[in-house]
This record gives sequence, C-alpha cells and structure tokens, in this order.
Amino acid sequence: MTQADDARVAAVSWLFISDLHLSPDRPDITGQLEGFLEDWRGRAQRLYILGDLFEVWLGDDMAGEFGAHIAATLRRFQAGGSAVALMHGNRDFLIGERFARACGATLLEDPQVLEIHGRRVLISHGDQLCTDDLAYQRMRRLFRRRGVQRGFLALPRRLRARIGGWLRARSHIDTRDKPPEITDVNEQAVTATLRAHGVDCLLHGHTHRPAVHALDIDGRAAERIVLGDWYTQGSVLEWDADGYRLQRLVRSQASRSGSETGDPVS
Ligand code: MN
Repeated sequence: MTQADDARVAAVSWLFISDLHLSPDRPDITGQLEGFLEDWRGRAQRLYILGDLFEVWLGDDMAGEFGAHIAATLRRFQAGGSAVALMHGNRDFLIGERFARACGATLLEDPQVLEIHGRRVLISHGDQLCTDDLAYQRMRRLFRRRGVQRGFLALPRRLRARIGGWLRARSHIDTRDKPPEITDVNEQAVTATLRAHGVDCLLHGHTHRPAVHALDIDGRAAERIVLGDWYTQGSVLEWDADGYRLQRLVRSQASRSGSETGDPVS
C-alpha cells in the first residue's frame, strides 16, 4: 500500500467548527484556521462549518480580497480530498452559491439530520434555539425573508457596508445588555426540536459556550454538543469511528500579533 492509499484509508475523521468570525482585522484567527486546515489536509473525510465563518457577509459580490483568500484556503483543503460543507450563521447568512462554489463547498440547510459514523445527529447553527431572545428572533425572521435579502443585495455596495456596520454595532450593544440566559438556547426549544426530528443528539454553535450537555428526553438519554468560537482560541469537534472529541485549539502567542479587540458576541 502506498502512502497515499494509507492517507485515504485513515481519513475517517469528520471535523466540525463554527463561529470563527473571520475578518481582515483578526489575522490571528485567519492564521489559526490556515494552520488547522494545513494540519488536517488529506487526513479528514469531511469538514463542516456550522455558521459564522465570517464576522459579517454583505453579499458574494463584496467578498473582496479577504473573502477570495479564505475561499482559496478552503478550496486547497478540499482539493486534498476532504468534502467541505458550509451552513449559514446569523452573521453570514448572505453567503450564496457563488461563494460556496469558490470554496469547493456545499451549502447546508439549517437544521438538518446528519448520520455521523452510524449516529443520527441534528446539526444547526443554533440561533433559532435562542427563543427567549424575542427581539432577536423577530429580526431573524425579517432578515431570512427571501424578498428582504434580495432587496438588500440589490443595494449599492457602499450602502450595504453602512447598514452592515450599523447592524453590528446594534448587535454588540444588544448582546452586552442582555442577561446571559437570554442569549443561550432555550431548553424546551432544544427538547422539542430533538423530538420533532427523532434524534437524541444535537450539535450546534452560536452561543460561544463550548460544552457537552447530557439531556433527558422522555426518559431517554440525549446529548447537546456545543462548539466554541475562535475569538481567543480555536474549537473543533472531531468525530471518527471511535466517537467524538470536543477540543480546544490553543493559539500560539506568535500568531496573536493581530488586534485583540474582538468582542465575544455571538
Ligand atoms: Mn452566531
């Protein structure tokens, strides 16, 4: 068996990441993603990005040099033999087919059931489950309307950039002023969603509270796995035939030369 065959046989790991919030202002996060992808190139079967890859996305036509660089980085990883799938987050739900294609990725519906090494798991960004945050859910319903999105994407780029900046400032203030339980998932919403999909495992991001929670649904054991954000360190869920491991990716000091002003908003 050649070394290439060996790599192919060994590539059974599925990787899940979310909430990187990439932006040109945070080269340290981009650098960590590049290192992570280089490390796993040819060794992972699939990579799932469960939303908020970018801090903000104002349309594929505004991807710019930075977006093109990230697309090329993902494409190189995909060319190494790993499938790449991309789910929208609340920051980058305007990512379209054009950008996904540039990444060599497929766009995923949120939520959806995925069979991971024999286990049926519901994957989602997770913002829909934060049902206690009524103001946010109202805004989400509005922004997810196709007509609203089409209208926004038809606006001149400069105007889109201004609206985007304004929305980010608003979101920052709103999140800061809300008690933490409001911005976390609602347990009843989680239970109802798992029940509706007939699964006993939920995997999501968004809340920036990495953890594995044990649940009880109608007397049966269930789990909720939460991916972490990449503001101060990385977070990955690695899932292979032996099960899953939720891991923290420490960021080396050398790569932290970028600004550290990232705010921990979801
Ligand atoms: Mn989010």
